[in-house]
Amino acid sequence: MEDVLVRAISADGAVLACATIATGVAEEARARHGTLATATAALGRGLVAAAMLGSGLKGRQTVMLRVLGDGPLGPMIVESTANGALRGYVTNPKTDLPPTASRKLDVGGAVGRRGTFHVTRDLGLREPYQGSVPLVSGEIGEDLAAYLVSSEQVPSVVAVGVLIGPHQSVLASGGVLLQVMPGAPSSIPAYLEERARLLPAVTQMVTGGASPDEMLRQALGTLPVSVLERRPVRFACRCSAQKVAGVIAALGRGEAERLIREEGRVEVQCRFCGERYVLDSDDVEAIFASASEEPD
Ligand code: ZN
Repeated sequence: MEDVLVRAISADGAVLACATIATGVAEEARARHGTLATATAALGRGLVAAAMLGSGLKGRQTVMLRVLGDGPLGPMIVESTANGALRGYVTNPKTDLPPTASRKLDVGGAVGRRGTFHVTRDLGLREPYQGSVPLVSGEIGEDLAAYLVSSEQVPSVVAVGVLIGPHQSVLASGGVLLQVMPGAPSSIPAYLEERARLLPAVTQMVTGGASPDEMLRQALGTLPVSVLERRPVRFACRCSAQKVAGVIAALGRGEAERLIREEGRVEVQCRFCGERYVLDSDDVEAIFASASEEPD
């Protein structure tokens, strides 16, 4: 199944629902950052959470999720754009913990159970919208639900999951998000909770070949829905050689030339995607030559 996100609304407008499959996204994140299993699962869940938070964005709008826990993983930052480009990193990609008592990847232990879950929605207004809540468990899904309920006042059911195979690679990654809209009948939250209780694990649905539409059907039961949006999601970064040139220009000619003298090159690595940009003395010279040609 390709990586795709589907957003739908129930016929009566009471429930906004989103399901996504992002196995390729999680695997690319793993390969780029060299994460070990627990870190791979945390980052994969974070990317799915960002994808679902980003559903419905338009134009140049973005959403950034920062999970700042006290566990060995360190801060995790993930971001989604309106066109389904996802990127992100964890501070300590080699974090790998023993499985939990129920033989699950210990994402909560890696993230930490104390800390904060921050969401920044840049909707193109003067100020981005920011909200945060204390971490509930560090498992990401519960934390996202707590965030939506207490910070955005939207009762929500969230399921996210990542399955790691032998040789560390990602076999499945995906999620489901159900949100109760204002004015929904009072029976809806309990109905969704009950459906969530019956819902198979996300990774089980994804490995079983379910599409996001089928995941939504399983999550919503008899509730009829119409699809609002269907879009591919992918790991994609906004870094570029041009932006790196800007960073080096800001560093200043003296500092850049010192690095060339001492190291023989200037190396810049993008935190979000791990891409390395290596510049030699000619590259650095070209940056300052073109910078000085620009009119003030
Ligand atoms: Zn990048």
